[in-house]
Amino acid sequence: MSGQIYDVWLSLGSNLGNRYENLMGGVAFLLANGLAFRNCSGIYETEPVGYTDQPPFYNMAVHCSTSLEPLELLEVCRQAEREYKRERNLRWGPRTLDVDILLIGDLTINLPDLTVPHPRMGERAFVLGPLGEMGISLLAKWGLPWIHEGIVLKIPAADVKMNIAGE
Ligand code: ADP
Ligand code: MG
Repeated sequence: MSGQIYDVWLSLGSNLGNRYENLMGGVAFLLANGLAFRNCSGIYETEPVGYTDQPPFYNMAVHCSTSLEPLELLEVCRQAEREYKRERNLRWGPRTLDVDILLIGDLTINLPDLTVPHPRMGERAFVLGPLGEMGISLLAKWGLPWIHEGIVLKIPAADVKMNIAGE
């Protein structure tokens, strides 16, 4: 598989501190560590799922290309979270930055540490809303619905000012 370039779709979320800065910093970290920017959704404000007694999230989806292999990509995503001092006391609790791998090209992966497509994406409006904004055909290809109830567009994609210099 070496030498291959993958199209990857990631989901970023934050509900602690400066949520916008956390998302932008997270993307900048990814772009400085082996990912090239292709496209992004707008930023949505979404109510927490699971453990609901926590502040609302900012969520967005980002499309990149990379020559990183899947487990290397997971490691970079974990580093991005660590860079933002993610707190992991509660599994679905508040976090400064959550970076999830949604899709890696056409791959399906079932490893102890990595499942792709992301196993819970099909029921999460905060994932499917932003992803569908970038291309409904992508959702259709994976049999996913475009659910966008309960999420509110805060910053349209055209107004998302990210530093893509690291590309
Ligand atoms: P969630 O993202 O569902 O809120 P966590 O972020 O706490 O849950 O889960 C993180 C762990 O999930 C990662 O350390 C990783 O090993 C595992 N994992 C499995 N599949 C994926 C994926 N597609 N993207 C990100 N993490 C994944
Ligand atoms: Mg996660």
